[in-house]
Amino acid sequence: MEDMDQLEQALHAGRARVLADLESNEVAHADVVSLVEESVSHRRWWVEQWPEGVAFLDGLIAQDVQDGLLERYGRWPLCPVCVGSEPHALDIEPELGQDPHWVCAKTTTSVAPVGALGRLP
Ligand SMILES: [Zn+2]
Repeated sequence: MEDMDQLEQALHAGRARVLADLESNEVAHADVVSLVEESVSHRRWWVEQWPEGVAFLDGLIAQDVQDGLLERYGRWPLCPVCVGSEPHALDIEPELGQDPHWVCAKTTTSVAPVGALGRLP
């Protein structure tokens, strides 16, 4: 049961971080929030199959939501480093690892940890 609590806590934290990033870009509409919920329920199933993956949930939820947004709305989050040149989306690094960050792949700049896009200067 304790493992279950840890899983729920990790899912809750991942959900909160991605929502914070969405809110910082003012894209946290109801249908976008439902993308987050879809990802969380999918990842709950996924991490039940592979409990070691619990540390990777933040990055995975962020990537799920990013993929979902790309299909429905477009690129998110746009890179704040490459202002004025061709807009592109930030990538998650590591894709499958702990402590995921939003990274500009063009300039190899680490922009912010997942959940901290709203705290950029
Ligand atoms: Zn960039």
